[in-house]
Amino acid sequence: MPAEITPMMRQYIEMKERHPDCLLFFRLGDFYEMFNEDAKVASKELELTLTSRDRSKPADERTPMCGVPYHSADAYIARLIAKGYKVAICEQMEDPATAKGLVDRDIIRIVTPGTLMDASMLEEGRNNYICAVYADSTGAALAVCDLSTGEFSATPYTDSARDEHLFNDLGAYKPREAVLSDGAFADAALTDFLTKKLECRCENGGEARFRPDMARETLSRTIADLPGEGDAVRDLAVQAAGGLLSYLYETQKTDLSHIAALTIHSSASRPSMELDLTARRTLELTETMRGKEKKGSLLWVLDKTKTAMGHRLIRTWLEQPLLSPVAINRRLEAVKALVDDPIARDEIVLCLREITDLERLIGRIVYGTAGGRDLAALAAGLGRLPDLRALLEPFSAGLLPTLRQELDDLADLRGLITSAIDDDPPFSVREGGFIRAGYNADVDYLRNIMTNGKGMVAEVEAREKEKTGIKSLKVGYNKVFGYYIEVSKSYYDQVPDTYIRKQTLANCERYITQELKDMEHTILSAQDRVVALEYQLFCDVREKTAQRVQEVQRSARAVAALDVLASFACVAADNHYCMPVVDLSDKLDIEEGRHPVVEKMLKNALFVPNDTHMDGGENLVAIITGPNMAGKSTYMRQVALIALMAQMGSFVPAKSAHIGIVDRVFTRIGASDDLSAGQSTFMVEMTEVAELLKNATSKSLLILDEIGRGTSTYDGMSIARAVLEYCADRKRLGAKTLFATHYHEITCLEGQIPGVKNYNIAAKKRKGDVIFLRKIVRGGADQSYGVEVAKLAGVPERVITRAREILEELENGQGPCAVPAAAPKADDGQISLADMGGGQVLDRLRMVDINTLTPIEAMNLIYELKQKL
Ligand code: ADP
Repeated sequence: MPAEITPMMRQYIEMKERHPDCLLFFRLGDFYEMFNEDAKVASKELELTLTSRDRSKPADERTPMCGVPYHSADAYIARLIAKGYKVAICEQMEDPATAKGLVDRDIIRIVTPGTLMDASMLEEGRNNYICAVYADSTGAALAVCDLSTGEFSATPYTDSARDEHLFNDLGAYKPREAVLSDGAFADAALTDFLTKKLECRCENGGEARFRPDMARETLSRTIADLPGEGDAVRDLAVQAAGGLLSYLYETQKTDLSHIAALTIHSSASRPSMELDLTARRTLELTETMRGKEKKGSLLWVLDKTKTAMGHRLIRTWLEQPLLSPVAINRRLEAVKALVDDPIARDEIVLCLREITDLERLIGRIVYGTAGGRDLAALAAGLGRLPDLRALLEPFSAGLLPTLRQELDDLADLRGLITSAIDDDPPFSVREGGFIRAGYNADVDYLRNIMTNGKGMVAEVEAREKEKTGIKSLKVGYNKVFGYYIEVSKSYYDQVPDTYIRKQTLANCERYITQELKDMEHTILSAQDRVVALEYQLFCDVREKTAQRVQEVQRSARAVAALDVLASFACVAADNHYCMPVVDLSDKLDIEEGRHPVVEKMLKNALFVPNDTHMDGGENLVAIITGPNMAGKSTYMRQVALIALMAQMGSFVPAKSAHIGIVDRVFTRIGASDDLSAGQSTFMVEMTEVAELLKNATSKSLLILDEIGRGTSTYDGMSIARAVLEYCADRKRLGAKTLFATHYHEITCLEGQIPGVKNYNIAAKKRKGDVIFLRKIVRGGADQSYGVEVAKLAGVPERVITRAREILEELENGQGPCAVPAAAPKADDGQISLADMGGGQVLDRLRMVDINTLTPIEAMNLIYELKQKL
């Protein structure tokens, strides 16, 4: 650091010290400048040229610096935020032109990944959540907020599975930023989950903001109906919520009254289904497993929403299927009404198309960053609500009447905005030109002056000529005197006393009058005054609009819900879905079910529908066998997706469906690509199985694909069978389970364990090729067709032929390492192949430690030995 620091650099350093964790954008005229370390970081990340102040000094004493123009700063800030930085914006608080000495500056806002407000930095169809986690010895709580829409909720966790519930909820929200209390920050599993699994920015927010008294005080700034103290569990939620809001105030430094309501969920009686990250990923609810893309996910099929609010809400509905049949049926009935009336549906969709993002617009209006365009867009959006209300008028089914009631078109507010602001205002509110003519008499008057300045001059000229009788009188203008009256020599004696002489020229004299000076002032200052006045009027309208935040939010939410229901209806009608019966029964009856995504992705083939009949009794566990590629995973996912879709309130891809509420769906599908976390595939698989068996209930739906594949055959088969027995055992779990396996041996369990049924996905062989029929049928598969599938996949013919030979030998009881048939036979007198089998059995028996063998392992061992004989 150079020895002598300029006052401005001192100011900079002081600002920087207040927020050492942020990159400081320091406003200097038309630029935001960064200095020192910040300049080095920003120049690298933003590919800006690193320069330095004081170039005259030796290189090591210079202050590194780089800058971005203020009008394009947003794009640079967005890039830094995307890279995980926080940016503090330091503005000039007074006009440098009029400031005496050092310009007053202050940090007006800190931009962080979870607190974006700018439309250009936000993804329209996605909420941008920030969360806070508070944890102490009594429990934990999660608070979640979308600053752009004002959504704010908190959930306390105090039971033994608190981490599990907390992690699952975090997985549902996928926050971009997390503020943690000391206790939460010290929890490595939590910070790991947030940073690695959710790619969320984490920081320790300190303990103070989470203290019960502080938290309540902060919340009382915006939340009107804060719950009373005394309920220890709810108080935890209040602590997390207060901590979060305090962080928002600290970083945003503005009005946050659009965060007007806090919903406190109870983790014990949750309204929506808890799904873990594994189930969300493998069922590809909102993005595909591989590419993490929307295309190919359930959301891709179901999302035909037209508004930004609808886009966001459908994601939430997909992430949080409901648990109450009453709530689900309210949605389903609304969807049915819209499916049944295609004309009204089309009209509603057309109307929705024109509705702007009311939720985020009102957010920005309260927050103070909204411009004239935002107000005009809000008014335009509100303008469509009366039509929407009218279109809903004839509907009495399900949610529709409630939504209609909640759709308040706020006609007076819209009237205010449209009367004050032009339909297509300019981008900036600082340069005037957007207050509608007729709204304010002063604005009209000033504009009149600006456009009619010449007319006024002519008017004065004519009047003065007439008054004085001086025919040659002229009004002119120059930079030195401003407006003046010029009189030629011959008329000097007619000049009135009120004229003040300013200049004498060869043939004429120039005068000013008080009236002329007043006019001059009016004309010259009209521009500045109208700009200031328009801004003031704009702020006034913005303020009045901001006060209506809660009403706008309520209407916006109704629009969003209607949009999602209409989207469900369109998709149902286009794809021939049916309305499921949803109740609290044990049933999972699906007739001609289809996989909603796979059926859309199949280009040249027709999707083959399949039935599912499960219940809590005879049909509890389905063992599904069949060759690879037959369609086992597709079938199992299809059942899970149909159940989930029904609970989201959507129609389902089937001829008919009866869905008894499922409390959770668990999946264990395919090899997890979690190897990056340093765990073996098998370890990951077993961790998932462990979680699933610990947390599932008899109301859960389990999808287990190839359990035990990652280890040796016997280990794998033992584990698979033990897991299956546990799932089927009503005293232990007794949950509906779809169990795909390549261990054909397990099919022997049908008949032995009540509730277990065998199914297979049919395939047949024709001339050495396999033909997939894609139909699920009762009974175990007779063959695995592995060689045929290998052929289908393009494995060279030689290898296929050889594999067939080996297979035949194996089926005849030979081991895989038997001497190839074509090779010379062993001499007589040596051990025969049958004897070799006997020898293997003896060897294996010698190696077994009977004391450590579980009953199932013993059974499997006997099975294995028998195979060898
Ligand atoms: P498996 O799990 O038995 O190996 P998959 O479920 O992965 O098989 O299915 C393999 C492919 O078969 C899928 O990608 C899909 O294209 C197709 N498929 C699966 N089920 C059906 C079906 N019912 N109708 C048409 N094609 C299907």
